[in-house]
Amino acid sequence: MTWFKREKKPIENPTPADERRVRTEGLWMKCSACRAIVWKKDLEANWEVCPKCEHHFRLHARRRLELLLDDELWTEHDADLASSDPLHFSDTKPYATRLSEAQRKLGMKDAILTAEGKLDGRPVICCSMEFGFIGGSMGAVVGEKVARAIERSVAQSQPLIIVSCSGGARMMEGAVSLMQLAKVSAALARLDEARVPFISILTDPTTGGVTASYAMLGDLNISEPGALIGFAGPRVIEQTIRQKLPEGFQTAEFLLEHGFLDAVVPRKDLKFYVSQALGFFLDFA
Ligand SMILES: [Zn+2]
Repeated sequence: MTWFKREKKPIENPTPADERRVRTEGLWMKCSACRAIVWKKDLEANWEVCPKCEHHFRLHARRRLELLLDDELWTEHDADLASSDPLHFSDTKPYATRLSEAQRKLGMKDAILTAEGKLDGRPVICCSMEFGFIGGSMGAVVGEKVARAIERSVAQSQPLIIVSCSGGARMMEGAVSLMQLAKVSAALARLDEARVPFISILTDPTTGGVTASYAMLGDLNISEPGALIGFAGPRVIEQTIRQKLPEGFQTAEFLLEHGFLDAVVPRKDLKFYVSQALGFFLDFA
């Protein structure tokens, strides 16, 4: 018996290792919470909640409206409001460049969508923040759009829902962004006088000036599991009070336990929960 040494045939058009990796990276991802490998399509179908451990990833502003409103039928308001860069601000790059990059990437003019639609058949005004747009920060445009949404709620006597997802005030607009806290809070006081319900949904993360204004002013303040909610970051607080902070500090569950939230609701139950709450507010009023 003769053994022939097989000649190694070169593979035609070999795929470089780099390319192979890129191709699979597009389809799968590792869950940052349970480290399971998850098919991205599964994650998307599950509203960006890990099918293995139920970790809640961030949801884009538009997907959030799809989650809450009926049949994707809604009217978007003030979609063309855009920042005028009042301070002509520049840090590592000009603010104007940052804005145009975010606008191109996300197809929206600023960090919030405001819409009018129906939730389980009930007309509502719904605002949804986009973290991908400069950290979901609140400048003049976000403040103005929220204020207008509140005014629409008052005028049409339709409940208001705001989904927050934000790092806080937009530093590139300085004091102008801080003024939004007062403006929005004053508008919410008028909504309260008109006895129109406001449900605030705090998602991961809700911090800074957004927590310090409308996110905590709901008739109901509810959150998603595991969300980071706070004003200043834990390191700043530790340095200020010179004390170690407790475990789980600034998570939705910790805040619920200490009376700062009314409920922690998983994303899959969110629409049902809000619908029930609105029914309770309005049908028995
Ligand atoms: Zn997971």
